[in-house]
Amino acid sequence: SFVLISGPSGFLGAHVAQQLLQAGFRVRGTVRSKEKGQYLVDRFKQQGLDKFEFVIVEDVEAPGAFDEAVKGVDAVVHTASPFHFNVTDPYKDLINPAVQGTLNALRSAAKEPRVKRVVITSSFAAVVNPHDPVYSFTEQDWNDYSPKQVEEKGKDVDPSQAYRCSKTKAEQAAWKFVEEEKPSFDITTIQPPLIFGPLEHEAPSADKLNTSINNFYGFLTGKKSAEDAQAGFGSFVDVRDVAKIHVESLLVEEAGNQRFLVATSDSSYQPLLDLFFEHADDSLKSSFTNAEKGKPGNPKPKANVIDTSKVRKTFKWQPIEAKDTVLDMAKSLAEYQQKW
Ligand code: NDP
Repeated sequence: SFVLISGPSGFLGAHVAQQLLQAGFRVRGTVRSKEKGQYLVDRFKQQGLDKFEFVIVEDVEAPGAFDEAVKGVDAVVHTASPFHFNVTDPYKDLINPAVQGTLNALRSAAKEPRVKRVVITSSFAAVVNPHDPVYSFTEQDWNDYSPKQVEEKGKDVDPSQAYRCSKTKAEQAAWKFVEEEKPSFDITTIQPPLIFGPLEHEAPSADKLNTSINNFYGFLTGKKSAEDAQAGFGSFVDVRDVAKIHVESLLVEEAGNQRFLVATSDSSYQPLLDLFFEHADDSLKSSFTNAEKGKPGNPKPKANVIDTSKVRKTFKWQPIEAKDTVLDMAKSLAEYQQKW
């Protein structure tokens, strides 16, 4: 069958498009420029994957943005959404494209009777709330803290709270759309925490790296400090695993009408740096001579725990080992670095 994916030019979207092609789907991607689309056509062709085509959707917020793109497809995967912290106006920069982009994908899908399922990339950002002591989050949880922060602080809101708000509101808008409009398709939403792993998409220079990879790259280049290595993110997950769960969500009937938390393990940066220094060979290490070691063996105590029992059970899923995520990410960055 035939799948439409928004955002294949992104870090995650490129992996989802690649795995859809590998699973035998014909894939149409929406991109904002011809160059980004052509890059993917060429890259996938080199991998023997020739059923990828693209259409330009310049503005996901425009009414009917995906009306043309959705024609003839059996399913939609919506990954496109801004993930950055350069915020002057939280609505204009993050919340509006996230919410309107999601609603427009759903509205257009509702005009194509062939569409049976829409898979939406949400985020652990739409789930997490400040918790002390340690708390185990499940698919029942919703972030109500970040939307309140945006309401209270307006343009002065912390950019990471503005991002979390954008993901929360986009996912809530999707569930509300389904409840009110009762379209002939169902939806699946996926909530990954910070995503790491190798790159497939075009990253023409280091300053154009996507947010999560750029965070890790900062340690490899020595721009981040030992203190930064202690900074907690609740958990991370491998990009190939997140892509896999998107594809599986199209294949497994019971995935409809469900949210799925997908995470590898609970961590701060320190354990990942430890894995890098323990397992990288000399040649890989020589690509990152300024890499920050942090304080080896001193991870930050757990903050957020993610209960992944549902995703493991539904898809019989086992996460990729953290060591492989770290090594494959570093190898990939070493290769890209040579072109920069
Ligand atoms: P990237 O920045 O690499 O990719 C974002 C994608 O969305 C790109 O294809 C980009 O297009 C597109 N996009 C962004 N803003 C707009 C906009 N205003 N209009 C149209 N397209 C837009 O980030 P990721 O791959 O990391 O993010 C992909 C998805 O995964 C997002 O929904 C994000 O919220 C979610 N996510 C990411 C996590 C992570 O750690 N990376 C964690 C949890 C969720 P273009 O190439 O043209 O800029």
